[in-house]
Amino acid sequence: MATENKPTTKHTPGEWAFGEWDDEDGGGQHFTVDAFINKDAEPELVAIVAGEPDCMEANARLLAAAPDMLAALLTVRNEQAQDGDCFFCRPDMAPEQVAGGHVEDCPMPFVWAAIARAAGGDA
Ligand SMILES: [Zn+2]
Repeated sequence: MATENKPTTKHTPGEWAFGEWDDEDGGGQHFTVDAFINKDAEPELVAIVAGEPDCMEANARLLAAAPDMLAALLTVRNEQAQDGDCFFCRPDMAPEQVAGGHVEDCPMPFVWAAIARAAGGDA
């Protein structure tokens, strides 16, 4: 993915991956999310996933994919911002005609909302 679409948020950089281990003391299976900041360093623990055992692996995988999903959404948003018009619902309208307006099923408001939810005001 292009560097300019990498999130500018304050989250831990690097590739995130989910991990799992079995507790040798009988504590069961555990899942984590680790950030691999560079290839020469130990991964940095981002999260230990808790909750229902049946959901923990899926939750850890979802969390580990979050930076990539954010980067994908930023790619879509940045493309939108460069062109000025909404390529989902109004590709033939001038930017000044689109301001604030999308058709009912346009995904762009959800893209913007997801980015804001993930990054606050940092992206
Ligand atoms: Zn739209």
